[in-house]
Amino acid sequence: MNVLDKRIFETYAGLEGQQLLEPILRDFPGRAAVVSSFGAESAVLLHMVAEVDKATPVIFLDTGKHFWETLSYRSKLVDRLGLTGVRIITPDEADLAAADPDGTLHQSHADRCCHVRKTLPLQRALEGFDVTISGRKRYHGAARATLDFLSITDERLKVEPLAGFSALDIGAYMRSHNLPTHPLTEIGYFSIGCEPCTQAGGSSSDPRAGRWAGSNKSECGIHWTHNGQDIAGPSSAAH
Ligand code: SF4
Repeated sequence: MNVLDKRIFETYAGLEGQQLLEPILRDFPGRAAVVSSFGAESAVLLHMVAEVDKATPVIFLDTGKHFWETLSYRSKLVDRLGLTGVRIITPDEADLAAADPDGTLHQSHADRCCHVRKTLPLQRALEGFDVTISGRKRYHGAARATLDFLSITDERLKVEPLAGFSALDIGAYMRSHNLPTHPLTEIGYFSIGCEPCTQAGGSSSDPRAGRWAGSNKSECGIHWTHNGQDIAGPSSAAH
């Protein structure tokens, strides 16, 4: 199936959660990759993925700035779920040497730091994939408030099976499947990214309040197009 064929939106219309994820993984074998931060709510999507195909490619961007708790949680979840397709992607050494030789770029130019440590490595990791799947939710607000379940970005089909999930839905799913929680959620972190740019805090109504707190930045840029525009909104294509 050609992911750029607008009829694709009719094919999956009205589906979400596992009901959307399952046919996507079935219909695009070897062409779909999940992008996961192994953060506060990542276990939900990863559990759904494991239920369909444990060998699904799962891309984790190891920026070199993660909390050790996140790296530990990643190992725990991978073991628990039996995921065999996890790919740990790191920034290019030459890019880091040129742009962030002392590792402090996040203090002066956070967008540039995200570009080198996240966006560029992800672009390289996604070469060869036609479909990307992530676990963003509308309830996280800001640019995510209008997320579509399906959109086309940079000639790839972007799938957001959890777009309609609430904080209550996430909690209920975690409990019903007895999924392990990220250790930092137990000390007040609602959303977890790189250590220098994440603070404890947030709430179920503003879970990303602890990300880049005190700045205007709210996204790292990996969900933007190559041209630096935010993702196409709901209705860049009918669905
Ligand atoms: S979240 Fe912070 S440390 Fe991580 S890549 Fe972005 S600016 Fe750099």
